[in-house]
Amino acid sequence: MKRKVLLHICCVPCSTSAVKTLCCEYNISFYWYNPNIYDTQEYNNRKDAAIKYSKELNVFFYEETAFVYNYDDWKNKTLEKCSLCYTLRLAKTAAFVMQNQFDSFSTSLLSSPYQQHDLIKQQIANNFAGRYMLEFVYKDFRIDFYDAKNSLKQKGYYIQKYCGCHKSYREI
Ligand code: SF4
Repeated sequence: MKRKVLLHICCVPCSTSAVKTLCCEYNISFYWYNPNIYDTQEYNNRKDAAIKYSKELNVFFYEETAFVYNYDDWKNKTLEKCSLCYTLRLAKTAAFVMQNQFDSFSTSLLSSPYQQHDLIKQQIANNFAGRYMLEFVYKDFRIDFYDAKNSLKQKGYYIQKYCGCHKSYREI
């Protein structure tokens, strides 16, 4: 029987390569918690695409909605702020894993060539895994990132143009 993994998904393009790598070994469920995304329309575009993708794959889509976007928190993003951004999202994912009896967790952030893998893996995800005695599934999902993105475009999926926070929006 496949082990149950809760995959924190940041967007559909990143989720696709993660799913492709994990699906042979794991029974995947999606977890949506991305309070970093500016603005509301962009947030909804990405979330709607993620829901559509979960339906296409027939996987559970769990959503954490208990947050309010605070512009001031995100407007001066620095490398340190990315660390806070990862921490915020993966802490919530790990807590959900604990409460809902999954075997392990991972994140589609590991699909993006733009994210800081070592930081996500060593300083953040492994920290929560150790604290709660959970398995954090680390794999390099980046291999298929561009192929996955192109195939999603052909299928008409929404593809974002920036990472998420207001600072990354201004850098387009
Ligand atoms: S650039 Fe991306 S990872 Fe960094 S703080 Fe902004 S949304 Fe988060």
